[in-house]
Amino acid sequence: MAGAKRRSAAPVIGVMAVQGDFREHLDTLASIGALTREVRLPEDLEGVSGLILPGGESTAMRKLYERWNLVAPIKALAASGAPILGTCAGAILLATKITDGDTPVLSLIDMEVQRNAFGRQLESFETTLTMQSLKPGGGATPLRAVFIRAPEIVRVGPAATVIAQLPDGKIVAARQGNVVGISFHPEIAGETRLHRWVLEQAAQHARRG
Ligand code: GLN
Repeated sequence: MAGAKRRSAAPVIGVMAVQGDFREHLDTLASIGALTREVRLPEDLEGVSGLILPGGESTAMRKLYERWNLVAPIKALAASGAPILGTCAGAILLATKITDGDTPVLSLIDMEVQRNAFGRQLESFETTLTMQSLKPGGGATPLRAVFIRAPEIVRVGPAATVIAQLPDGKIVAARQGNVVGISFHPEIAGETRLHRWVLEQAAQHARRG
């Protein structure tokens, strides 16, 4: 096609690698054929078309994100329409409110989260929950999920949508446009659908330029 320059390069998916279980996310992305990049510094975000914020320890992550000036470029990437997926501690960083006073970090999903909301006995558990598909008209499907000292989403504001709840009604996943926050760890449960969504959305985002 003369003159028509098509972008055919595969999108690069960034995984925040300052702390936490980023290796499991890199492995999950590799297993679905995605190109990945470990992100530790703002320049690592250049050319990235989708981003995963892994689980770990949100207090440590907050300090490192602030120290390395990662907050503004992540917000800019979200504003450009790139898909962002935050799991567990990553979802805490996405919230507009953290119960008990911690200052919000990225404020990309209109929701309040409570850290370590599941009691001592339930520090870690695995369950099957029903999650709304991230694709338009996709309906709800069962999903295997591992919770590790997980946050609960205690309230979702008007800008965001609930996409998964436990049988007792606790909210464990919410979405605001291209940004998704989940309390649990799909990468440990062998669940790849959320990563596939990031990859598909990132490909569209890269094509749009
Ligand atoms: N409890 C951790 C926090 O509050 C999150 C745990 C996780 O990411 N698995 O930061």
